[in-house]
Amino acid sequence: MTLNNKSAAVINFSSEKGSVEIRELEKPEIGDDEVLLHVENVGVCGSDLHQWTADHSWHVNYPVVLGHEFGGRIIDLGSRVMGWNVGDRVVSETAAVVDPNSPMTRSGLYNLDPNRKGFGYGVNGAMTRYVRVPARCLHHIPDHLPFEEACLTEPCCVAYNSVVVNSRIRPGDRVIVLGPGTIGILCAAVARLCGAEVAVVGLEADRKRLETAKQYGCETIIGDASEWARSQDGLGADLVIDAAGASMTLKIAMDLVRPNGQITKVGWGPQPCGFSLDQLVQKNVTLQGSFSHNWPIWEKVIALLGSGTLDVKPIIGGIWPITSWKEAFEKMHHGEVIKSVLKPF
Ligand SMILES: [Zn+2]
Repeated sequence: MTLNNKSAAVINFSSEKGSVEIRELEKPEIGDDEVLLHVENVGVCGSDLHQWTADHSWHVNYPVVLGHEFGGRIIDLGSRVMGWNVGDRVVSETAAVVDPNSPMTRSGLYNLDPNRKGFGYGVNGAMTRYVRVPARCLHHIPDHLPFEEACLTEPCCVAYNSVVVNSRIRPGDRVIVLGPGTIGILCAAVARLCGAEVAVVGLEADRKRLETAKQYGCETIIGDASEWARSQDGLGADLVIDAAGASMTLKIAMDLVRPNGQITKVGWGPQPCGFSLDQLVQKNVTLQGSFSHNWPIWEKVIALLGSGTLDVKPIIGGIWPITSWKEAFEKMHHGEVIKSVLKPF
């Protein structure tokens, strides 16, 4: 598929449903502070699927190469790049463009800079052979960590931020995770590492994906989780992590959480809610949003992946060449696999 400097890329070309196709792309030019990465593997994210099915709620710069979960080797360096070498094995954070003077960036929370633009929607992503990446986004990965696992550092960081940074868990806490997608399962896995008892909740159609949660030592529940939530002292779960990707699941979370407990919402959807928030008040519940991740989180997650403490192999449903993107997307869309991984060529 490669002619001269051109490579096959998975392009999202308009806001119409289904506007994704393979196009040939020139090798990008890099800026002084950027590196050129040869992409080894790229994970398919729920947000890539949402852009494909056009039910996303964020602004997309069409046409754009999809893909923000990736790892690769450095093959070229901009003139001002220090501390990185050609051949380095790396993964990249997702905040491709941030305002360096924004107060959020200056406090290290560039993931929350309102002007942030990410790979795969704001700038060209990694579902192709070459991607240009600002050097500040890079992290080294251990030699023994394969790229097909390393490319999932990003969703692991989403989970780590939700569970470790934005939630409070004590060993022995009961934690309920709504939604057995990649983020839900990884949140459950990280909550297990924090010493919690964890149940992952899904629908009948999620039966297969819930099986994977069992490999992380979690209970699995189809439908109503209130019995599990209340089985210890009758009051509910200490923490409910809502990773279901819809607004209305907040209602379920409010039912399941115990008084003075916490709800962390990491899955999102544009639908209005249409129900009362009275339980939030009456139960004195903390409602916490969680978005993206930053540098220290990446370093911790790479350490967990490198030591094998956090193992992403159970969620990987297969590796497809980039030209078979549609099959990889469809398998995830239908819940046949939790995570599809692509390989550029
Ligand atoms: Zn993602």
